[in-house]
Amino acid sequence: MQRVTISSSQFLSEYENQRVILTPQQLHYLGRVLRLRDGDRFIVMDGKGKSWLAQLDNHQAYLLEELQSTTELPLSITLMIALPKGNGFDDIIRPCTEIGVSYFLPVISDRTLLNPSPQKLQRWQRIAVEASEQSERIIVPTVFNPVSFTTAISQQTTAHCYICEARGDNYAHLSKLILNQDFSQTPEILIAIGPEGGWTQNELDLAIDSGFKVVSLGKRVLRTITAPIVAVSLIAAITEM
Ligand code: SAH
Repeated sequence: MQRVTISSSQFLSEYENQRVILTPQQLHYLGRVLRLRDGDRFIVMDGKGKSWLAQLDNHQAYLLEELQSTTELPLSITLMIALPKGNGFDDIIRPCTEIGVSYFLPVISDRTLLNPSPQKLQRWQRIAVEASEQSERIIVPTVFNPVSFTTAISQQTTAHCYICEARGDNYAHLSKLILNQDFSQTPEILIAIGPEGGWTQNELDLAIDSGFKVVSLGKRVLRTITAPIVAVSLIAAITEM
């Protein structure tokens, strides 16, 4: 289910905090991007660990009930991933949903070989639902439509962004950076994993220019299927400790 993070000033106190005013950006996101209508449900979060099941109601969010979640990670993970060959993405979505990813953002990179069919998106979302239920999460991750790497990078607003690079001994290990990062103000992280052929220098430069930190996952070269599982496991372990 879709999530919207609000600030405390958005609560309408005359409704005893059961109603939330949505910003124009949030309304655009819910109505235009996600195509939700009045009566459709989504999750409202205060960004501090509280979340509610909410219903879209006349430009406001009507909070139906507070969600008691013990299964979600303390931060949202977005996995940006250059689409792997064949059904490789299926094998990434399933375990990464179990571990705690909230958003999958497939991208077409310079060395991506395939352009997926529309049916694939439905299949991926179904896998996310199944894996979520399996792991008793209250959040079903969103699988976005594939976009070009350049578009994905330029639209990124996530506070903490990392791009994994298999070559290059001088990059810091992801776990070291996560350990030293304070996520309390902005509990979100984006991690980008490249295709079988790796990122091009151009792509790495673009990511760096957009504020991404280049990181290593260790000295061995991992497959595109393995790398996200390693990255997400590290993030989950460190932030849940
Ligand atoms: N063929 C490429 C490797 C691609 S591995 C090469 O020889 O360089 C696919 C993706 O997994 C990489 O783009 C990177 O994002 C990630 N990856 C694999 N191993 C990694 C490692 N040790 N550290 C960081 N990222 C890694």
